[in-house]
Amino acid sequence: MQSVLHSLKQRSAWIVLGVSLAGLAATAFLESPAVASPPLDRWIVVLWLLTATAAVFRPHVESGLVLGAAGLACAAFFYGPFVTAVFGVTTFLAAILVDGQLAGTTRERFQRWRRLLGASASQLAAALAAGWVAWTLGNGSLEAVEPGFYGAAAAAGSAYLAVLAVLEIAQAVDSGGHVPWRDLTEGLVYEASAWAVGTVTAAAAVTLGPRPAWLLLAAVTVCAVELVRRERLFRVASGQARRLRELQLAGHRIIFGESDLLSIARQIFAECRRVVPFSWFHFQLAGDGGWQDGWWSGPEGMVREGRPDPPAEPPPLPGIHRRASWKILTRTLASGERTVGRLRLWCDPRRLDDDAEEWLDALLPEMTSSILGAVLDREARHDPLTGLPDRRALEERLHRAFRRSQQEGVAAAVIMCDLDRFKRINDKYGHATGDMALTAMARLLEEQQRDDDLCCRYGGEEFSVVLEKTDGVTALAVAERLRHAVENHVFTVDGKKIPLRVSAGVAAFPELHVKESLELLELADVALYEAKRQGRNRCLLNLGRGRFREVDGEVLDPEDPPPEIQAPTLFA
Ligand code: GH3
Ligand code: MG
Ligand code: MG
Repeated sequence: MQSVLHSLKQRSAWIVLGVSLAGLAATAFLESPAVASPPLDRWIVVLWLLTATAAVFRPHVESGLVLGAAGLACAAFFYGPFVTAVFGVTTFLAAILVDGQLAGTTRERFQRWRRLLGASASQLAAALAAGWVAWTLGNGSLEAVEPGFYGAAAAAGSAYLAVLAVLEIAQAVDSGGHVPWRDLTEGLVYEASAWAVGTVTAAAAVTLGPRPAWLLLAAVTVCAVELVRRERLFRVASGQARRLRELQLAGHRIIFGESDLLSIARQIFAECRRVVPFSWFHFQLAGDGGWQDGWWSGPEGMVREGRPDPPAEPPPLPGIHRRASWKILTRTLASGERTVGRLRLWCDPRRLDDDAEEWLDALLPEMTSSILGAVLDREARHDPLTGLPDRRALEERLHRAFRRSQQEGVAAAVIMCDLDRFKRINDKYGHATGDMALTAMARLLEEQQRDDDLCCRYGGEEFSVVLEKTDGVTALAVAERLRHAVENHVFTVDGKKIPLRVSAGVAAFPELHVKESLELLELADVALYEAKRQGRNRCLLNLGRGRFREVDGEVLDPEDPPPEIQAPTLFA
């Protein structure tokens, strides 16, 4: 069936010619029941078919339908409803054949037919109006061309073109876009040509007789159809080239944009929106045997992390007329054996283009590689045992906090903690139990951390926390809370209760003069060492110059202070 349609489409010029001639032959035998059959019947039919085929590729749906309705009413008045119906059906069928409109689903076909109907109708109006002007001037019998014939046809044609231009401009302004002057001019040139051909052919029919006029019409029909077919092919090809370029740019933006997952999700959202008109967006990463929460957005277009709200399905689609349910476009992003994520877009099927899904699919490889890159990067920065970020992530965050502190003068602090006598746990209960204790410690840290904090496994049984916009005393209180949580946590293995204790050292800037962010880690480590030396299971804040502050506010000032940290020298 598809191949038959394809070959029909290929031979469209000849098919339309055949249909035109068949329509002409049929109407030659028709008697109008309304008024005495006007001699222009046949020519109007042919003109109409000719111009309708030319219009197939330039749909003006709204204006076409209005003009078409007026034209049909006119035709019904002059030639009777039967002839009008035959004209209408023949034109529409010709239009369908030219554009190969039988492919696709019923809904898609319906949409395209509606467009074609509008296009054919506008041409019908043009041709009928031309015929009407000519017939009226000839007083119902065009024995000879009246002197005013061409002038009248030109005046009616100009009026028609003016109305069409105004409608087109109004439509462009109304829909908020700029007026497509080039397309408009091109369309009007076609329209004017149809009028000119109609007028000349009608005149030829009257002066030379029907046969030469038939031949003329046949030739013009074939030329017109071939012309529009080429025009359409050119438009399709240039449209495809433009979309391909857009696709390439979209892929580039996805791949070379920001590298964190939220930014990538936002970029994917933006690029999807360019090709598919959707209302709800949900993008999830593949987790252990399922999908994680991921990122989502509702119709307002703000991409957020978490579960979509409303949780199950978006509300029913609005609209009383032509109700529809959501079409959910689901795409699984996979690279080789590995499933990376899932993208779901809730679309209104009434707004979905024929090729929207095709363009969406074309973007999938870029989306997949961008997300996979970010996921692998995240995996590389996370400790596999506890799932916490690793030392690299901590150092980056600390560096950022330090820069911000220098620029804006806000404080930042770091906590270094180390489990007490951890070696003994390993020795007594085994390495596996030690691992479980480290994981338990990681969960406790996560529970205690605030939104802007970053906690990580620094190495071995050492953990650290970066606290932005936090001074030393507050950070010391946070460390103490954590120490408490560890002390009170009941860690049991095989029914045996294993006590966990932790010591912590805290350092903050700008309270301490440091030249670079990593120095702060060293100073926190010094406080941690002192906490261990003081007997473990405690927290100390490094005050500089070998002094430390305890949780109760007491300041330790050891006799043998460690070497001083130098303040930066401005004029060396
Ligand atoms: P302190 O109170 O002075 O910190 O004593 P400690 O025993 O905790 O200190 P030490 O640095 O001597 O021992 C750290 C131990 O942590 C040694 C090592 O076996 C253990 N450890 C480091 N990484 C891991 C790990 O990934 N899993 C397990 N089970 N143990 C680890
Ligand atoms: Mg240690
Ligand atoms: Mg230790």
